[in-house]
Amino acid sequence: MNINEIKEWLREVEHPAKGDRNIVELGMVESIETGEGSVTVTLAFSKHRDPLAEYLIGSTKSAIIRNAPAGTQVEVKTVIINEAPKKKPGLDLGLEELTNVKHIIGIASGKGGVGKSTVSVNLAVALARLGYKVGLADADVYGPSVPKMTGTESEMPDAMLEGEKEIIMPLEKYGVKWMSVGYFAKPEQALIWRGPMACNALKQMILQVRWGELDFLLIDMPPGTGDIHISLVHDIPLEGAVIVSTPQDVALADVEKGVNMFRNESVNKPIFGLIENMAWFTPAEHPDEKYYIFGRDGGSRMAEKYGIELLGQIPIVQGIREGGDSGEPAALSSRPDGLAFIALAEKLGGKLK
Ligand code: ADP
Repeated sequence: MNINEIKEWLREVEHPAKGDRNIVELGMVESIETGEGSVTVTLAFSKHRDPLAEYLIGSTKSAIIRNAPAGTQVEVKTVIINEAPKKKPGLDLGLEELTNVKHIIGIASGKGGVGKSTVSVNLAVALARLGYKVGLADADVYGPSVPKMTGTESEMPDAMLEGEKEIIMPLEKYGVKWMSVGYFAKPEQALIWRGPMACNALKQMILQVRWGELDFLLIDMPPGTGDIHISLVHDIPLEGAVIVSTPQDVALADVEKGVNMFRNESVNKPIFGLIENMAWFTPAEHPDEKYYIFGRDGGSRMAEKYGIELLGQIPIVQGIREGGDSGEPAALSSRPDGLAFIALAEKLGGKLK
């Protein structure tokens, strides 16, 4: 029983998801060790979650048992190796998974903390409540909040191999298909993603996902305006964007940056409108009162200045924050804040139909 002989036996083990090529040919046999009446084979997997890993381990074991002298002890170990870096920068992902998606809309903000994710999640839920088929891709690689805001943080999307391509299944809850980098990395890990790595991660969150048929795919974009946005807009067929802002002056100055980014020649995408978040404060115990704590009408002034529509105004209320923290978005409720999101969804849905 020598190594070459064992290697020949291992050629009987074919990978069903890779055109029935065998594990030797695919370079998956990392090492073969022989001892006194024993064989240890180590198989290399390039991904943590190869759905066929267990199948291949079992087949490897039986291929050796079939061929080796009776009584040979067989052990199959696994090792995870990093994939060889691709020659081209970026992943070579096609647009097949977006074939049946009608409208792809980026939700952007000039800076963080204006409630972009809160608005994205609630808008998705509100659109679903109106009967639209909706998906949301959380591309906010630096602070993915969709898992927490939808109460799906303990879940892990399924993955499968189709030919050479890995497909990720979105999670479904509240009638919306959700995908987030947060399902694959702990928040503190996400923070260290930079540049091309972050770009690739978020492209995967959109292009490798089996979205199926959708009326709307919302993309919760990273805050700010930078290379990552430009790259995203180039690789994903965004139809246009909506911009989220608060009425504060500083936030308004940031809106300007967001608007300019989409209007920049190299991006050149329509802006469907502005959403003014935290437009006024309404105390839970006085639902009819409005306090304009961040200033009044900033959103409509800005919308006018840039010739874009003010799509909606969302109040700052405790229920929206609590909804985000508890994983039950406010848009599920029929309280005034829930209805504000429904009104917003009606407006956007009507505009793009
Ligand atoms: P961003 O995605 O822009 O960084 P988030 O959506 O994460 O912002 O919101 C930041 C914080 O503000 C969260 O704690 C969220 O619950 C809260 N928040 C956002 N919008 C509202 C609102 N309209 N009313 C109350 N709290 C809000």
